[in-house]
Amino acid sequence: MKPVSEFYNNLPKKQCANCGTVMDEQAESYKTQCPQCEGKDNYPA
Ligand SMILES: [Zn+2]
Repeated sequence: MKPVSEFYNNLPKKQCANCGTVMDEQAESYKTQCPQCEGKDNYPA
């Protein structure tokens, strides 16, 4: 079993779960979508 820290170190660049845009690693790590996609969520369908 590898340590969890090693798993995270091997992760590729973070991508938006919605459109696949590569996000800045310095961005808030808990977000799974880029700001553009998150903005769309603010609008009702
Ligand atoms: Zn996106």
